Amino acid sequence: MKNIENVKEHLIKVLGGKKVVTDQDILDQYGRDETPEIFCKPQIVVRAETVQDISTTLSICYEAGIPVTPRGAGTGVTAGAIPVVGGVVLSLERLNRILEVDTKNMVAIVEPGVITSDIQQAVGIHGLMYPPDPASLDMCTIGGNIAENAGGPCAVKYGTTKDYVLGLEFVLSDGTIMQSGGKTVKNAAGYNIIGVLLGSEGTLAVITKIFLRLIPSPTVTYDILLPFSDMDQAIENVCNILQRHIIPAAIEFMDADALQLVRNYLKYSMPFPDAGAHLLIRLDGHAEAFVAQELEELSKVVSVENDQMYVAVTSSQKERLWSARRSIREAIKKESSVFMAEDCVVPRSEIPDFLRAIKNFCYAHGLRSIMFGHAGDGNVHIDILKGDMDIQVWHDRIPEIKREIYQRALDCGGTITGEHGIGYIRRDFLPLAVDQKQIELMRRIKNAFDPKNILNPGKVFPKKHTEWS
Ligand SMILES: Cc1cc2nc3c(=O)[nH]c(=O)nc-3n(C[C@H](O)[C@H](O)[C@H](O)COP(=O)(O)OP(=O)(O)OC[C@H]3O[C@@H](n4cnc5c(N)ncnc54)[C@H](O)[C@@H]3O)c2cc1C
Repeated sequence: MKNIENVKEHLIKVLGGKKVVTDQDILDQYGRDETPEIFCKPQIVVRAETVQDISTTLSICYEAGIPVTPRGAGTGVTAGAIPVVGGVVLSLERLNRILEVDTKNMVAIVEPGVITSDIQQAVGIHGLMYPPDPASLDMCTIGGNIAENAGGPCAVKYGTTKDYVLGLEFVLSDGTIMQSGGKTVKNAAGYNIIGVLLGSEGTLAVITKIFLRLIPSPTVTYDILLPFSDMDQAIENVCNILQRHIIPAAIEFMDADALQLVRNYLKYSMPFPDAGAHLLIRLDGHAEAFVAQELEELSKVVSVENDQMYVAVTSSQKERLWSARRSIREAIKKESSVFMAEDCVVPRSEIPDFLRAIKNFCYAHGLRSIMFGHAGDGNVHIDILKGDMDIQVWHDRIPEIKREIYQRALDCGGTITGEHGIGYIRRDFLPLAVDQKQIELMRRIKNAFDPKNILNPGKVFPKKHTEWS
């Protein structure tokens, strides 16, 4: 890549050797994220410590026309943080301070490299809650959550990352530092720039400071595991629960294969080992009597075999249930290090038909599929394991399998991703979900933020729209 050596020298001169990594072994670590099988080594990594470092790095790269890929913790599963065209990885891991917890206005101001669960703990001390809870919350950063508009089990009651961002400081590709919004709950001055940046996957700007809306923390939570004979029965019960105006914080489902895998992985038993599907439900609130009443209502609404219902009471019982749910991806990785992870979203009522069709399709192609996810909001995770299939055959089949899954999700009135984004691995499928005119509009937005296309090139847009690929 032309100019890269000059840029390296320039960055070292301005930022100092400690912030600019050129050691080959360390560069390797920034060449992958949690997406199986994809690796592209950057030529330079900048570990920024201040917003000024970010602005300086961007303005030098802008001038030289060198691509820059922002990176949080690298837990993304669509290769978003992988520098697929090389260049500079701009790591935000050292901007990891919680700057303020303003209890009067119920706002937290944080840097982008703070781990999401650290924010939850820091505000929890004050009786406050930052609800978005991706299963990766102990590893991922808030900057990555904003760039991906991350969601989690609690989305059914509390929404996703986008519902909690009041303000953002960000840096454009030419190094210009800007702020939109702040501590106010309302803001109607001009276009909603925050909304444009949410889910922009590091392609429009680098997020450097975040103002988060907080809410009072619920003081009572019940976690409940329900067994069902199959997925149809489980999802019918989800619809019944919500139609009765019971709004659980979370309604997660796991198919029998998912539970089997996780049981083997965690090496502890779970209630109802013979069930064909499980729902894991969290009820929460601010008064014991209210939540107990909801539990009572729930037990009347659901129809489970033999009236079976497991209510976790102690914190260790609750933790066992949730760690089973959160460990599914690790359990899958142990079973088959090569796998495909899809996170389509469909209307809730369509989940059983959608999953049945995909299960049958996989079965017909000799592939094992594991299904789990957020039954409350229709965001289903379909992980397909390579197992002992020949690697070349696997790679040849991936486009066909993806297309089949996406087309079925679209036919059900859904879309191709609910929380993991497009990134690199889905960019060629974007036209299935978004029409050409909208892709053109997105391209014009991209051009307004990043006219030289140096910010995370090779992502989101189908191949022909990216001058780097
Ligand atoms: C076990 C596991 C469970 C997961 N569960 C969930 C889940 O429940 N819900 C969910 O939504 N996701 C989930 N994910 C995916 C992933 O954790 C999220 O996408 C997360 O938001 C990524 O954060 P990160 O800090 O790791 O970002 P990275 O992977 O480092 O980056 C992701 C994208 O954000 C961009 N980016 C990062 N920081 C910035 C910044 N400051 N400014 C601009 N762009 C930036 C990058 O360029 C890249 O495009 C899971 C992943 C794993 C491995």
